[in-house]
Amino acid sequence: MDHNKALVVFSGGQDSSTCLFWALKHFKEVHTVTFLYGQKHSNEVEIARALAAKAGVDFKLMDASLIGRLGANSLTDTSIKMDHEQPQGGFPNTFVPGRNLFFLSIAAVYARELGIANLVTGVSQTDFSGYPDCRDSFIRSLNVTINLAMDEQFVIHTPLMWLDKAQTWALADELGVLDIIRNETLTCYNGIAGDGCGECPACRLRREGLRKYLDSKGI
Ligand code: ZN
Repeated sequence: MDHNKALVVFSGGQDSSTCLFWALKHFKEVHTVTFLYGQKHSNEVEIARALAAKAGVDFKLMDASLIGRLGANSLTDTSIKMDHEQPQGGFPNTFVPGRNLFFLSIAAVYARELGIANLVTGVSQTDFSGYPDCRDSFIRSLNVTINLAMDEQFVIHTPLMWLDKAQTWALADELGVLDIIRNETLTCYNGIAGDGCGECPACRLRREGLRKYLDSKGI
């Protein structure tokens, strides 16, 4: 297991793309893995592929569509109208139960095959959207679990865990990739790259963060 190598769980969105450039700064060799899980917008994959090429890193696409078929959610089922607000006491229907558990577990097995010790994921507890598997306690627990499962010494890195969206934009700027993240990533639930549709919850969060960051710089 090489501690100079990292595998980024990568979707081509703002968060995981920022993590990709963060990883390039911290590790000698960086790989990405992108999961297909029945997303409504297949251009997500092409955007991820193009970003990985631009960053000069290895891009691996893996079929994990089983996870999208197991439970009802509005990210993979076109017949479900997406929640724009988190329902009282429940999860928004954009929640794919167990997604990060599933993705990170597969990523760890793949990383082991490649001899990669570091896993990087863009989960964040700060802009908590009601997804329990974005929390720090879950990541720490899983890190222990995958190490026990394979008798290895993986380290799961979460550079965005305690950052809000404005701070995530600041990190992109610090890494010198603000324009790439702003124009070439896809966060929008309606599949529109860059500034997106402007209406969906992901676009609103992204836009408010960017405005706050640019305001703080006086731009
Ligand atoms: Zn949108």
